[in-house]
Amino acid sequence: MFKDIISKLANMVEQRFVHKNKLKILHNELDLIMKEQSHVLRHIESARETVNKSKKRIAFIELEVKSLDERENLLKKRERAALKQREIDSLRHEIVNIQGNREELEDEEMQLILDVEKLEKKMSSELSGINDQLASFDTKIKQIQEAISTVHSAILPIDKEMISVAEKLPAEIKDQYKRIAHRLDRPVVIIKDCNCTGCFSSIAAKTFSEIKNVGYGYCRECNRLLFFEKA
Ligand SMILES: [Zn+2]
Repeated sequence: MFKDIISKLANMVEQRFVHKNKLKILHNELDLIMKEQSHVLRHIESARETVNKSKKRIAFIELEVKSLDERENLLKKRERAALKQREIDSLRHEIVNIQGNREELEDEEMQLILDVEKLEKKMSSELSGINDQLASFDTKIKQIQEAISTVHSAILPIDKEMISVAEKLPAEIKDQYKRIAHRLDRPVVIIKDCNCTGCFSSIAAKTFSEIKNVGYGYCRECNRLLFFEKA
């Protein structure tokens, strides 16, 4: 009897729907954890980047200071050998400028060294907590992925059975069913309190009595195959 087939399909649709909802919840949980995980990883990454940038700048300053030292020594030699006062004055002026530049760079370097030390200390004190956090994320992600694959393996046989059961439908219902199944998760739903339980729109009294007589019908709103189960 095709009514039994529709009833069977409706039951499987509901089972499948429960599993699909579980999947949605699991995927949401997974997204949330992965977001937290990437947030933590970004935090570490940005601290590392700051440290690396500062270290590069420190290395650059050290080279710069070295070349200023060499330039200063050269100018001092020239100052000692200079005879004209104007030349001596101009060399001294340049030396003072170099010393000023170097002082500025050395101040910056000192500050950078302190910043790096502070940041590295902070990173190493946070690291064990962060590692615990990352390990717990990994565990949770693994658990959720396992749960997802369990649900998938529960859906698979239902999907297969639905296809083979649907083949038994009379041709005129089967075509419509396939069209809806292609588009919607729940192609067959039962009528409850005169409502389509797929889209929750109410069913006209005339349609309802027809469905009660024939055993099935279609929702005017969502086109789902409707089925009325006698209490
Ligand atoms: Zn509907």
